[in-house]
Formats: sequence, structure tokens, C-alpha cells
Amino acid sequence: MDRRNFLLALAAAPFCVHAQPKTMKDIQTLQSNWKSFLPAGTASTPSPGEPLKLAKDEWRKRLPNDLSYRVLREEATERAGSSPLNEEKRPGIFACAGCGLPLFTSEMKFESGTGWPSFFTTIPGVFEQKKDFFLIYPRTEYHCKRCGGHHGHLFDDGPPPTNQRWCNNGAALTFIPKDGGKA
Ligand SMILES: [Zn+2]
Repeated sequence: MDRRNFLLALAAAPFCVHAQPKTMKDIQTLQSNWKSFLPAGTASTPSPGEPLKLAKDEWRKRLPNDLSYRVLREEATERAGSSPLNEEKRPGIFACAGCGLPLFTSEMKFESGTGWPSFFTTIPGVFEQKKDFFLIYPRTEYHCKRCGGHHGHLFDDGPPPTNQRWCNNGAALTFIPKDGGKA
């Protein structure tokens, strides 16, 4: 290998723990393996098929803070860069802060540079989508299938092969580290 090829090979080497998914088959593998990101000994997790419906005051009591309430129940958007989950890089599961439904694994997260936790795919069947017109032009809003909580917006400028960017409010998520460490 000459020097130029050596440098090219260095530049191409992925300096990350996980190989980036290249094909839709890789994405399907990520989706079907999501339970391997749960802490050892997790007996069961909430399922999208068990709806959680609560009155407003019950949500106020259940949710950890006012921002989580405003995002999940009133479709507010947190300030860019404000969520500690932007920096969360440990293996684990991002679950709904409202109802605990597992939504994404750490392998589905990418650095979008937007200041919101961003994912290129989801655990299958956990969100429902609708168009909203808050900013005049239509955007795809998505919400948790189990509790109806608003999470964020779906854009089509994410990394290949999905080209999806699930732009999620950190206040709508809780992180469950795989090693059982502090959330
Ligand atoms: Zn939920």
C-alpha cells in the first residue's frame, strides 16, 4: 500500500463502535434486535397495543416536569441544544417519558447538528404520524402509539439508507442504559 492509499484507507476507517447500516436489510436487523439493548433481566416492556389514556391532571402528576408535559401533551418544542440526551451515547433504549414504551435504540441515533436528539429509524410500530400546519407549510408530526404523546417531527434529510430524520424532543424521552447505570 503506498502512502496515498494508506491515507485514504485511514480516512475511510469508521472510528465508531458500530458499523453504520448501509442497506435496508441492515436497518431491519437493527429494528429486530432492539431488545438486545434492554438491561439484563428486563422481564417485560410496555407494548403499543396497551393504550395508556389519562386525564390532563393525571398527566401533570405522572410526568417528571412542566416541559415534558408541554411537549408530550401540548405539542410544544424544547429549545434546541437544551436536552442532556443530545450527548447521550451509551448503549441503551430511548423510551417514551409518558408511558415507558421503547421507541429507539442507541444504535438508531445520529448526530444531526440540530440540537435535538435525532434518529434515522425507530423500533417498529411505535409511532403514529399526522401532518401539522403550525409553520404554515405541512410537517409530519409523530406521536407515541401507546399514550398519544407528541414526540417531534419526521424529515426526509437524514442519513442513507433510510434518509429519515426523526427529530425528537429530549423532554419526551427517558434513557434506559443497557448496563443498568444511571439514566
Ligand atoms: Zn407514550
